[in-house]
Amino acid sequence: MAELLDGKAIAAALRARVAARVGDFVARTGRRPGLDVVLAGDDAASQVYVRNKARACEEAGMRGAVHRLPATVTQQELLARVGELGARDDVDGVLVQLPLPKHIDESAVLEAVDPGRDVDGFHPYNAGALLAGRPTLVPCTPLGCMRMLEHAKVSLDGARAVVIGRSNIVGKPMALLLLAQNATVTVAHSRTRDLAARCAEADVLVAAVGRAGLVRGDWVKPGAVVIDVGINRTAEGKLTGDVNFDEAREKASWITPVPGGVGPMTIACLLENTLRAAWRRAGLPMGELGL
Ligand code: NAD
Repeated sequence: MAELLDGKAIAAALRARVAARVGDFVARTGRRPGLDVVLAGDDAASQVYVRNKARACEEAGMRGAVHRLPATVTQQELLARVGELGARDDVDGVLVQLPLPKHIDESAVLEAVDPGRDVDGFHPYNAGALLAGRPTLVPCTPLGCMRMLEHAKVSLDGARAVVIGRSNIVGKPMALLLLAQNATVTVAHSRTRDLAARCAEADVLVAAVGRAGLVRGDWVKPGAVVIDVGINRTAEGKLTGDVNFDEAREKASWITPVPGGVGPMTIACLLENTLRAAWRRAGLPMGELGL
């Protein structure tokens, strides 16, 4: 039976470390690190997410603000707001909540975020830096997954890792982070043949698809580490992952639950990224951040 990778507990510990370093930042610079979240439209889930992000910042001693724009906002207005935030001295992190209204060019907006304040790590500059092996600001969800693997002291050197999903937000950066730790990485996706067989080879299996219970117990190699990024809602309204948890936990050595796994880590890593961006902008030595 697998041990549980308790995202809530690991995230709480990371948030406490961030809060302590925020105290140090304030003492050294005389100001709080600040995250500004831009929300365009009235998507119900996004409303909850942005509120939680801003609140988590405040709890860590940082400034957290939400800028709400109507669903009818024009591309120009949105770009102008993102540009203004990128020019303010007290703004260390700028995050544009996705999805954006249909008429907005998402790539153009993400490219308008100042790369030094791009705490989601979605700007092509930061994506390129990760690809080049010189990561700066790394997307929060895959970063959170790596923090969990660190916590479980999973040896990635030479390990076989399979990432299911190839999105820019999760799958691709996850694969690059694993590769940077010398794993042998396979990226599987909707066109992959024999997905079950590919997964069964994995020492580390990361599922980032968005299909409830896709990964069955017999897809899991005995002793594998299973990270379930998926968030799906069942017909009864319960949250569930991409992995059939009850089956997979019989085979795995470590497994993340949903909820209470990757989700809390994502928020903790957003706080880490905001502090990291603030630290760099303030010209403090990155070696002294020590997170
Ligand atoms: P996405 O829709 O952009 O990408 C899904 C990927 O899954 C695609 O690359 C696609 O090729 C692949 N895929 C689809 N069907 C497949 C199948 N049958 N077999 C194999 N691969 C298949 O989604 P995303 O933004 O990468 O998010 C993935 C999941 O992770 C979603 O459930 C999302 O809600 C969740 N998520 C969770 C967090 C968190 O904090 N826990 C953060 C981001 C995303």
